[in-house]
Amino acid sequence: MNVEPNCIACNVTRTLISVLPVKNRHEMRSFECPECGSLFRLVVRREPRSVADEVTGPCFAAAAIQ
Ligand SMILES: [Zn+2]
Repeated sequence: MNVEPNCIACNVTRTLISVLPVKNRHEMRSFECPECGSLFRLVVRREPRSVADEVTGPCFAAAAIQ
């Protein structure tokens, strides 16, 4: 379940462009506004089932950008 935040300036839904694992079983999601191109980064707890790939390197789950 990805909750995509809105750009406050443009009032449009941001696009998820990348997910990077960070420390303590969290991940950093980067959202880009399609209107002004600003980035919004959100650190959230990772899903418990993805603990296994913590040591295997970055796991990208980028959404398609049109
Ligand atoms: Zn914007």
